[in-house]
Amino acid sequence: MEKFEKLENNQDISGLEGLAYLKDGKFVCNPIRKVADLTTFPDMDWSFIEPERYLSSFFNCTRMFYLHASKGCPAACTFCSNKQFHQGCNRCRSIDQVMRDVTFLVKECGANGIYFSDELFCPRRDVRTDLCNRLIEADLDLVWGCQMRLGVLNEDDVKLMYKAGCRWILFGIESGSPERIKKVKKSIDLSLAKRNVEWCEKAGITVQASFIIGFPHESEKELRMTLDLAKSMPASLIVMNILTPMPNSEMLEEIKVDFPDYKVPDTIEKYTRKIEQTATDIVPYNFSDVPTKELRVIHFYYQWKDFSGKHSVNHDSYGIIKKWHVTR
Ligand code: SF4
Repeated sequence: MEKFEKLENNQDISGLEGLAYLKDGKFVCNPIRKVADLTTFPDMDWSFIEPERYLSSFFNCTRMFYLHASKGCPAACTFCSNKQFHQGCNRCRSIDQVMRDVTFLVKECGANGIYFSDELFCPRRDVRTDLCNRLIEADLDLVWGCQMRLGVLNEDDVKLMYKAGCRWILFGIESGSPERIKKVKKSIDLSLAKRNVEWCEKAGITVQASFIIGFPHESEKELRMTLDLAKSMPASLIVMNILTPMPNSEMLEEIKVDFPDYKVPDTIEKYTRKIEQTATDIVPYNFSDVPTKELRVIHFYYQWKDFSGKHSVNHDSYGIIKKWHVTR
């Protein structure tokens, strides 16, 4: 409120935390404001938005909405903007409020699915369990999905989530190389990957195991380790992403030093385009030791595999990738 008053009355705003603005054509960014307690937020006033405009489909779910149950993640992966954006912590919304939103979306908007797009879905077991139990009690005709880290869930958590309607979980595993995991501060134990994924698939939850290729100075050996781990995953879907370091991320700062020719996008629009490009077909740079063309082929291979519905790879996919690389 103070901000609006100062702006309205044309007063000095230089000390107001959390503001960024142009002054005399120059970008000014005031000190960062402490993240807010989400449980103090009022209910969403849905009358301001048209839910129909935000519908998507996912797997066999035809009317899916994105919603947050919590925000932020306590991890500090160097390629991710989470640490800067959410100040390295997870904050949960009030479960009552989340349930009011879910019920509204199902009963008033005909949703049959929710994707909890929390960076890390309710890492606190007590909160997650409470939400799952409330979803079970509400008995809504609804399925949902979320994003998790390895090592957060145990097998009982997975079973409860399934009972509450969870049908998809994305695990960001990122690399098959323990050295790389350490370097990018992912702080996960790769030896848990198979077990965590197995629990979910056994319970009936489709797992998307997500990996990143194209890390700075990534060697062919590391790339092979990632592909080998991906191939050994009992996950329904393997997602192979090409690295796009997020704005203000620690990795982007390292890249600027190590690769002075790397052009950092200077607007949000250019960033969005870059993310879309690296996720599809254009790699506008190559700061990996593995050729850009090869990264693209690997990326396309897994994309094709997902779309074709052939979720298991029994052969040496690296050999096939090599062959594609030569023949394309
Ligand atoms: S990549 Fe995932 S686990 Fe790592 S900081 Fe970002 S949200 Fe957290």
